[in-house]
Amino acid sequence: YLFPNCFKYLILGGGVAAGYAAREFSKRGVKPGELGIISEESVAPYERPALSKGYLFPRNPSRLPQFHVCVGSGGERLGLNWYEEKGIELILNTKIVKTDLKSKTLTSEDGSVFKFGTLIIATGSGVVKLSDFGVKGDQAKNVLYLRDVKDADKVVEAMKAKKNGKAVVVGGGYIGLEVGAVLRQNNLNVTMVYPGHWCMSRLFTKEIAEFYERYYTSKGIKLVKETSVIELEADPNGEVKKVKLKNGRELEADVVVVGVGARPATGLFQGQLEMNKGGIKTDGLFKTSVNDVYAIGDVAWFPMKIYNERRRVEHVDHARKSAMKAVEAIMEQEKVVEVYDYLPYFYSRVFDLSWQFYGDNVGERTVMFGNRNLVVKKPKFGCYWIKDGKIMGAFLEGGDSEENKAMQNLAWNQPKVDDLRELEDKGLSFAFNY
Ligand code: FAD
Repeated sequence: YLFPNCFKYLILGGGVAAGYAAREFSKRGVKPGELGIISEESVAPYERPALSKGYLFPRNPSRLPQFHVCVGSGGERLGLNWYEEKGIELILNTKIVKTDLKSKTLTSEDGSVFKFGTLIIATGSGVVKLSDFGVKGDQAKNVLYLRDVKDADKVVEAMKAKKNGKAVVVGGGYIGLEVGAVLRQNNLNVTMVYPGHWCMSRLFTKEIAEFYERYYTSKGIKLVKETSVIELEADPNGEVKKVKLKNGRELEADVVVVGVGARPATGLFQGQLEMNKGGIKTDGLFKTSVNDVYAIGDVAWFPMKIYNERRRVEHVDHARKSAMKAVEAIMEQEKVVEVYDYLPYFYSRVFDLSWQFYGDNVGERTVMFGNRNLVVKKPKFGCYWIKDGKIMGAFLEGGDSEENKAMQNLAWNQPKVDDLRELEDKGLSFAFNY
């Protein structure tokens, strides 16, 4: 591998999974010159979740290099010099536009060709745009999406330029809720619009959502539910000033931030790899249908052992762990490697709230516990999801690390519950039995 642009191991994508993969390669003794990472971004891999949280704080915002991987999991921070020291080639500002898995080559926008022995696909996700649903006007300069540092810089600029102005946040999922909160903390007048009956409807029950919606309202955020945006009307300067809704309402806006979902960035591999719903099919070691090609992080459609079905997971914890597992499999070719065994874990932090969820939000019943009263200083409450009499999912707002650990254990162990009243009474303390 002495030729330029030719690597024994090549990672396509320079996000969370790529960064954790690089650390794992290094731990397992990759030699200088063997590993390359190609990224469209201009910076070394970083902890993407910071972009909708600390990066947008009004005071002491996080800035790179503070949140390069692997600080998010309490590890060493891998800045540019770390890659240099290890002889790992970080090829930044390089967008791959063509791939040929037969000839084992990737071609960039400027025509450079990269050759690999083993490829790891870690291209993550791209944002879903309002224009994908036929909504006009989302190219306006004050309509913002959030996926990478460049996007986050635009939000920061807009918050400065539109000081005390009106922000419309489109979407009531993770990004919408986190950005809505932080825009408010920056003193913007925030209205959130989402189509669901309640926020985060893919995870939250009505009762859980009701708490966060009350909290947001108490912070002065207006919530417009059960409707969607049909048009963004720009003024002669090309700035959107009006957001038109399906229910006939019109919202005034100085800035619009959209968080309506993401989709796996796998277009480069269509027709070359087995896929499903845009995800790349892998085995339990993240090997794809083509030899020497692996897929990790958001793009992998992998067997989730605990639930005995294939899933794709768009969360940072899986990006980290899938990366480490794939590299273990690649570097330990001769040895038997245990397949990935993953318990879903999601979290979010907004204002001074913080929740964690472990497991699967499925089943015929949920049991709520704790105090959801906004008057208490630090609300602490949770929810268990019960399927066929077993606890499958565990949610906790305001937990400390021990309590969150107990929830994690519970979701792993899926204990049977005979008496739901007792479960409700015991609440959080029930989790400490496992
Ligand atoms: P990414 O981190 O997205 O990295 C993909 C990389 O590939 C990028 O560098 C991209 O530029 C590069 N790339 C793609 N295509 C090409 C190409 N053709 N050529 C060159 N480079 C390319 N998850 C949580 O669990 N908790 C959170 O609180 C949370 N907050 C989030 C906040 C934001 C704003 C965002 C955007 C995501 C958040 N997530 C969160 C999701 C989490 O960040 C992702 O699941 C995780 O980053 C996925 O890692 P990845 O490496 O698969 O993809």
